[in-house]
Amino acid sequence: MKVGVYYSNSDVRVEQLPVPQIGPGEFLLRVEASGICGSDVLEWYRKKTAPRVLGHEVAGTVERVGPDVSGIYEGDRVFVSHHVPCNSCKYCLAGQHTACETLHSTNFDPGGFAQFVRVPQLQADRGTFKLPDGMSCEQAVFIEPLACVLRAQRLCRIGPGRSILVLGAGVSGLLHLLLARARGAGPVAAVDPDAKRRDAAIRFGANAAVEPVGDLAESLADTCGTAKFDTVVVCTGALSAFEAAFRLVDRAGVVCAFATPSPGQAVQLELSRFWRSGLSLVTSYAAAPSDLAEALSLIDSGIIPVDGLITHRLPLDRIQEGFQLVCKGGEALKVIILPQAAE
Ligand SMILES: [Zn+2]
Ligand SMILES: [Zn+2]
Repeated sequence: MKVGVYYSNSDVRVEQLPVPQIGPGEFLLRVEASGICGSDVLEWYRKKTAPRVLGHEVAGTVERVGPDVSGIYEGDRVFVSHHVPCNSCKYCLAGQHTACETLHSTNFDPGGFAQFVRVPQLQADRGTFKLPDGMSCEQAVFIEPLACVLRAQRLCRIGPGRSILVLGAGVSGLLHLLLARARGAGPVAAVDPDAKRRDAAIRFGANAAVEPVGDLAESLADTCGTAKFDTVVVCTGALSAFEAAFRLVDRAGVVCAFATPSPGQAVQLELSRFWRSGLSLVTSYAAAPSDLAEALSLIDSGIIPVDGLITHRLPLDRIQEGFQLVCKGGEALKVIILPQAAE
């Protein structure tokens, strides 16, 4: 079978691997759609494990089912979560599934940018979600990224009447905007250096979208009616975004590090202001199983319309081009690899 092997952002090769063998408790997934995530092009994060088949936003059809699998049948259309929790450690029991060691160490084989994926026992048991009839595999690609956004917004208590500022209007930022809107939050604003992304932010529900130049507080006050926000969600690793977030968060507000700078890059934080103003800093990585289930139903019901976020669909043979598009950003939002599509 064909796979896309990541060596670096500018070197993603189409190679051949045998179709994985499946054992008891496992199934083989025929991958129909596999999204490229912003984290797939974070070289500091990805190159350390390269060469490797990436891809963790995966939906497809069950091709073959091993012995001792219950409730999953050949032909089922499913989304599969790459990371699954043990559900029994102290972190899982406290609802902190993303701190679970099992969640960090589980993955499928070889990765989503492949024509077939072996879904191990744990993912077959608790990480496989059947797609409703009306949901396409392309829509299902958004289950994982939306679930990550759901978890972050849950931790940040985003809800009716709360003002939100999103720094970075890529796919994650736009999902944050859509979800914040759906939850009745507002006003909602976005900051992005790219004009196309600012346009997208407005299309996806932002009241204002401004460029990070000059006095950001002033441009936000002019366009959005406020220069202080109850929640500031940082969806870019740029250090300047964190500095802006700390300045623009309102008293008793929350700064959410949805993305992070590279390791070794330090962010300056004036803790005394956080202390006096009751501010908090929240980080959010990955998603819990309940977030995945909720994401699926929000997409299925149309409450979070994801189709407009798909800008490119490419066959596996053009995966390198897909990575370049995601690196470049701008107009390209969600780039979906279709491993079964002809060249
Ligand atoms: Zn991701
Ligand atoms: Zn656990």
